[in-house]
Amino acid sequence: MGAASSHVEERVEGRPYVAAVVVAGGEGKRMGGTVPKPYLELGGRPVLVHSLQAFEQAPGVREVILVTREEDLALARQQVVERYGLAKVTRVVAGGRERQDSVYRGLQALGEAVEVVAIHDGARPLVTVEIIERALEEVCRHPAVVVSVPVRDTIKETCGGEGEGPWVAGTLERRRLWAVQTPQVFRRDLVERAYREAMDRGFYGTDDATLVERLGVRVKVVPGSEENLKITTPCDLAVAEALLCARQGAGGGPGPGLAWRVGFGYDVHRLVTGRVLVLGGVEVPSDRGLAGHSDADVVAHAVMDALLGAAGERDIGVQFPDTDPDYRGADSMVLLSRVVKLVREKGYRVVNVDCTVLAEEPHLAPYIPRMVSRLERAMGLGPGRVAVKATTGEGLGFIGRGEGIAAWAVVALAAGC
Ligand code: MG
Repeated sequence: MGAASSHVEERVEGRPYVAAVVVAGGEGKRMGGTVPKPYLELGGRPVLVHSLQAFEQAPGVREVILVTREEDLALARQQVVERYGLAKVTRVVAGGRERQDSVYRGLQALGEAVEVVAIHDGARPLVTVEIIERALEEVCRHPAVVVSVPVRDTIKETCGGEGEGPWVAGTLERRRLWAVQTPQVFRRDLVERAYREAMDRGFYGTDDATLVERLGVRVKVVPGSEENLKITTPCDLAVAEALLCARQGAGGGPGPGLAWRVGFGYDVHRLVTGRVLVLGGVEVPSDRGLAGHSDADVVAHAVMDALLGAAGERDIGVQFPDTDPDYRGADSMVLLSRVVKLVREKGYRVVNVDCTVLAEEPHLAPYIPRMVSRLERAMGLGPGRVAVKATTGEGLGFIGRGEGIAAWAVVALAAGC
């Protein structure tokens, strides 16, 4: 371990100062939603976070400039950089109208020390440290490098797109065709010159290398990966989700065959006078409340135990012992958030939660929508992931006699944070 890490450090020492410019444009129109594309959820975290984490972990990259839409600046700073502790992101800058304008703004934000620039699309979340490092190795020998994969489809050139067309005008020679991805890595002076020249002339290309090619500089192709796809449509997101799941099953994650897990939880507390009745994080008017060390929220407790069970962890009694004065009167919503954090740290995300409360009285139906939204908020889940139902005991047993309130919960977890 010691030898391996010192080897990495030595390589970094001898290498140029590399900054990544990660562009996160895109409105998400083609995704059919209102959430901007880079901020859509993939495996429980924004698409953009996956992209940035690869650069965060790449030993050769010293810093990252994140370029996003002006209206997304606060979102990028708070929900991406701060929330996920992305220490290499030194600047978050506003982009321009086209991708090329955004990259140009990123280049203008580079510090003096930067010698090499890796430009990456934030919408390619499955880029790996290996791909980044491969491109960085190569830029030591060639001033311009693009990550690419050989084209597998036969590509036809067409003409006459109007009316009855298009018609095939010719067939390109497939073995010479490569589909370019990002990162595209360049010596800084070269990419700056290429961008200045293109911007001055109002030339717009569909990737960065095109601008360098215009200067007559040869661009080196290095192998990327089919998995390094660009999220453009809902189909891409579904594919990326599946690839991510397979990756986590393959190592580092929960292990093969453990992509999905379910958990079950049960809790019961006695009804007593002089206590506030809290269910699902909501205070329900009642002449009696549930006895307990914390707020005795049986709904939250059943959900927590279900989550812990699904993650293969010990129950809440072990996690938050009632002998610990810290948990006296504790807000179960806070504890629930902690349990979800623990589940995430184990490599899982919450897919859905279903809970049934058994109470003879009070009548709970009017409070259920609020319980659902409190639980969703505590677990950081979007709408439609949590269900709460209530039923009575039909006068039978301790529930029927109004001696207590109980709750059952089941949850499903999927691999992928
Ligand atoms: Mg309890």
